[in-house]
Amino acid sequence: MNTSTTRSTQQWQAADAAHFLHPFTDFQALAKKGSRIITQAENIYLTDSDGHRILDAMSGLWCVNVGYGQQALIDAATRQLGQLPFYNAFFQTATPPAIELAELLAEVSPPGFSRVFFSGSGSEGNDTIVRMVRRYWDVLGQPQRSVILSRKNAYHGSTMAGASLGGMSGMHAQGGLPIPGIQHIEQPYWFENGGDMSREEFGRVAASWLEQKILAVGPEKVAAFIGEPVQGAGGVIVPPDSYWPEIQRICDKYGVLLVSDEVICGFGRTGHWFGCQRFGFKPDLITFAKGVTSGYIPLGGVLVGDRVAKVLIEQGGEFEHGYTYSGHPVACAVAVANIRLIQQLGLVQQVHDDTGPYLAELYKQLADHPLVVETQTCGLMAALQLGRRDGKGGGTRGQRFDESWSVGMVCRGHCFANGLIMRAVGDRMIIAPPLVITRAQIDEMAVLIRRCLDLTLQDCQRNGWL
Ligand code: PMP
Repeated sequence: MNTSTTRSTQQWQAADAAHFLHPFTDFQALAKKGSRIITQAENIYLTDSDGHRILDAMSGLWCVNVGYGQQALIDAATRQLGQLPFYNAFFQTATPPAIELAELLAEVSPPGFSRVFFSGSGSEGNDTIVRMVRRYWDVLGQPQRSVILSRKNAYHGSTMAGASLGGMSGMHAQGGLPIPGIQHIEQPYWFENGGDMSREEFGRVAASWLEQKILAVGPEKVAAFIGEPVQGAGGVIVPPDSYWPEIQRICDKYGVLLVSDEVICGFGRTGHWFGCQRFGFKPDLITFAKGVTSGYIPLGGVLVGDRVAKVLIEQGGEFEHGYTYSGHPVACAVAVANIRLIQQLGLVQQVHDDTGPYLAELYKQLADHPLVVETQTCGLMAALQLGRRDGKGGGTRGQRFDESWSVGMVCRGHCFANGLIMRAVGDRMIIAPPLVITRAQIDEMAVLIRRCLDLTLQDCQRNGWL
């Protein structure tokens, strides 16, 4: 029986408000308003409990890369649930799906990656990063090398270590974060920090902040630098092409481990298997989650490059870290089916050659809209910065709206009402649609986006904000 039909929307909302504390949510405000109840989905479309059809331009939460309803993944889960729903990978045991997935990940990973440590989520993957990086330097007899550098406005998860690595000031303000030994540099956000510099010039300057920080902390104390190839939750901030090669050069110069958090960028999002390949750098460790199973079931982990693997394996002894669900057989079976499907459908190539460039073309056209002061795309992720064109605040790039007007939220409201999931990060409107999206569906999405921008423009004009 389809449980969604057993209760009305109002009944679901009442039970939700009474019992379910949602992540990153003002509980009281949501309880007053009522949640939107999503009951089913197919391909790139969701259906809510009132029967509305919604184009999911966020792939759930950046994860449903192969789209909803893929039978191969459903079959893989069903088969594995019947055969062996759980066994652990502690105590010198393993299961075939976990081994198969480890092998397949080595095949699709960049050169130099042949080993993986599994977790249940991206946050746990980044907790593993902190422990593994520090263990690496310990084993090498340099325990003082424990400081991990990250960036402001980064998102690396919500556990104590994940939230500490992240650079979200709102998260740090709750619960005494960051934990010791984690420091942040400014982000490579040209619109915000670029002043009069060209993008490429700014990219090099933004990378130089890492070198300054390493020197300030003392190179002998710096263990690693972590970054998302494209900052996702921060607002799809695509760095200038000059940024990552310079970051790589600086990490190499001081022997600092380079960690690429590919929880969003991995598994085809940027038109490459991994975002580091798009931006031309070679990390030592890669965090992954989301797209590895297209979100059908939770799974995450760390791809461990040869430099770290060799030390941990040959000199490390027991690594005192792991999770009950490290290598969960059902999750791993789904991941294997998912990666094979990505391969069979040629999705990475499709994003690279066809749908990514097509989206970029359409976004160039959206740049003409009077509310839009910057557009950025990278593969199938994209951002529209809303603002005023007349301003001095952002130099030639336009001016931000007053924060209290919440223009981004106004736009998001129109999206909801018009059957489109587009997310607002401040006044930056972002999308990351499923990689199976077709050109015709991108057209459909662009029409909806323009309609919502027009409605937002009318609101802005009515309120005298423009
Ligand atoms: N890293 C990045 C780059 C992410 O975007 C996220 C989740 N949005 C995480 C880590 C945390 O992943 P999870 O929510 O699965 O713990």
